[in-house]
Amino acid sequence: MAADLTSFHACLRSSSRILALVGAGLSASSGLPTFRGAGGLWRNHDAMDLATPDAFAADPSLVWQFYSARRAAALRASPNRAHYALAELARRNPNFLTLTQNVDGLSLRANHPSSQLLHLHGSLFALKCTSFYCDYSDNNNTTHPLTPALADPDSHSFIPAADLPHCPKCHTGLLRPGVVWFGEPLPWSVVHTADSFFEQGKVDLILVIGTSGSVYPAAGYVDRVRAQNGKVAIFNIDVDATDSDEERLLDAPDSERMQWIFKGDAAEWIPKALEPLIGKIELPGDSD
Ligand SMILES: [Zn+2]
Repeated sequence: MAADLTSFHACLRSSSRILALVGAGLSASSGLPTFRGAGGLWRNHDAMDLATPDAFAADPSLVWQFYSARRAAALRASPNRAHYALAELARRNPNFLTLTQNVDGLSLRANHPSSQLLHLHGSLFALKCTSFYCDYSDNNNTTHPLTPALADPDSHSFIPAADLPHCPKCHTGLLRPGVVWFGEPLPWSVVHTADSFFEQGKVDLILVIGTSGSVYPAAGYVDRVRAQNGKVAIFNIDVDATDSDEERLLDAPDSERMQWIFKGDAAEWIPKALEPLIGKIELPGDSD
């Protein structure tokens, strides 16, 4: 069952409605660390403590420096073969939808069609005005640095509010990163679009890439595909038999055992796994 590429390819060829659920493991192959989850430290701050509305209200200078550093790191990184493979599948199959938990913008930079890409946790490159009276937002602003005060990633200096990014519409509100912070709901439009995808017809196959799929809402989407008798394929570097989700899948009755587990680097597996539908993927600059 594990890593049976032939049977996976047969399933892939017969699937029309396909969902991909993408997590940090996809971008780890591009060298980007994930700060979501335990143990992520930035300047000796627990990254989870910085990713909250309260932290931003208390110290917007520190939180903006954290996000500015992450924007810079994401801009230095490049999309990998898996990002390009998923983007190519999206171009070839209008019934392929990707739900990403990643905020690094790498899928868009691999030219993934934006209409087939939902950002569950927002994006480092989205900006929103914090003024209650203003509705300004920008979904993809890759300007860096956003203000001169944010130019030096090593500066530990306090930045006065006046030198932090401000709204170009109302000119008074402070801008904030358009990521989903701890304690905030997922974007309504994203949840609604994902729900609609399930309502429009059976999802034949879900690809769980670089995430265990055991954390909600990810786990919920896997359950919904299985409830429709769709199939599940997991691509993750650290598939762990003790992980509750993988254990649950492996313990399923035979009739529900319709999944593949490909353990390893997503950037290696995904192009191979999707090759029957998309051909060979070459990165920009590949010489061979
Ligand atoms: Zn504004």
